[in-house]
Amino acid sequence: MTEVTSTSTNEGLFERARGVVPGGVNSPVRAFGSVGGAPRFLASARGAYVTDVEGREYVDLVGSWGPAILGHAHPEVVEAVRDAAGRGLSFGAPTLAEVELAEAVRARVPAVERLRLVSTGTEATMTAVRLARGVTGRDTVVKFAGLYHGHSDGLLAAAGSGLATFALPGSAGVPAAIAAETIVLPYNDVAAVEAAFAEHGARIAAVITEAAPANMGVVPPAPGFNAALSRITREHGALLIQDEVLTGFRVGPAGWWGLEAAREGWSPDLLTFGKVVGGGMPVAALGGRAEVMDALAPIGPVYQAGTLSGNPVAVAAGLATLRLADDGVYAAVDRASATLRAAVDEALTAVGLPHAVQNASNLFSTVLGTDAGARDYAEMLATESWRYPAFFHSLLADGVYAPPSAFEAWFVSAAHDEAALGRVVEALPAAARAAAEAVPP
Ligand code: PLP
Repeated sequence: MTEVTSTSTNEGLFERARGVVPGGVNSPVRAFGSVGGAPRFLASARGAYVTDVEGREYVDLVGSWGPAILGHAHPEVVEAVRDAAGRGLSFGAPTLAEVELAEAVRARVPAVERLRLVSTGTEATMTAVRLARGVTGRDTVVKFAGLYHGHSDGLLAAAGSGLATFALPGSAGVPAAIAAETIVLPYNDVAAVEAAFAEHGARIAAVITEAAPANMGVVPPAPGFNAALSRITREHGALLIQDEVLTGFRVGPAGWWGLEAAREGWSPDLLTFGKVVGGGMPVAALGGRAEVMDALAPIGPVYQAGTLSGNPVAVAAGLATLRLADDGVYAAVDRASATLRAAVDEALTAVGLPHAVQNASNLFSTVLGTDAGARDYAEMLATESWRYPAFFHSLLADGVYAPPSAFEAWFVSAAHDEAALGRVVEALPAAARAAAEAVPP
């Protein structure tokens, strides 16, 4: 009897999960900690929809936190995965498909002369940092407050994503000596970067930045900010690592690089990718100029490896996704995003709640309680994010699965058609009312 209850309801399954999994989840933000209630345990996902263990269907605005640009379980991606699985799950040897995936990435982002596949975005940024240190012979890394680059030790200081959600300054377990090699600066502040380089330039190996930040809510880079990072790092012999784990192949066919650096005529030294490049399977990558990338083993002295790197089944999903993600797909994602941004704005305006819908291309999130928006982490933390749980739960009750945190981007896909978007648009007025009526904790 207990067994039936605990596997057939979200609440029951959450309780059961907490008995065996820390906090009941395998990644903190999934626990609904900042919005309250039991997380939805999902049973299936297709197109723009996810279905939980209770059989309730939701329009999904999380998209597996980014990968699902075609919508969930696109039949051709699933077929490619089945096909690859039938030929062997893992070889630990090179394959044709991983060469094709690297070539597909380079065709979109020519700044990537060489690409190394790994399994997670965390590995990609961790390796990029090690590579920058190995190439420059320096130890210090500059990152920006509120930006998230995965959970490697040195990059957790003042990180966004789950740390923003749970208001954590960093993580326990990171040795002070490692934290001391990370300089954290306010985002969008060129003067702060100039000052840090004036003082510490000779020991800075790299600046790492999200191409367009989306882990403290979406905060687009001010015009010229990324180009200034490129200039300053070059002047001081450091490298610029542009983290496109979230933006890569999502905000456009060539990611944020294609929307900004390519148009402005400069390039970061290293780029990191994840999410869409794996099409929902564990693939991530780092790439960049050949002379830098070739410092990786087996050619160079910077070590990196992985039993499952370039896994054939995962690579099949990534390759199929990139092949399917044509201009029509990006146009559809852009349209869906524009529709929802306008609808969110309209609903919040109608209830008189000050707000700003912030976007970087088709990625967006909503700042509540101020019309001025937020251009860095401090401003973001000062917004009325306590209104978000009411907004979120109203949407959830009406069948819309938004990210369970005010500090995460909303993700749409090419499968978000009029029917799916219509359900969100219908649910927004009540959610806006709930946000307006929320009381501070
Ligand atoms: N970099 C950015 C910009 C991200 O958004 C994320 C994850 O959300 C990561 C790195 C880490 O990727 P992963 O969760 O695959 O380790």
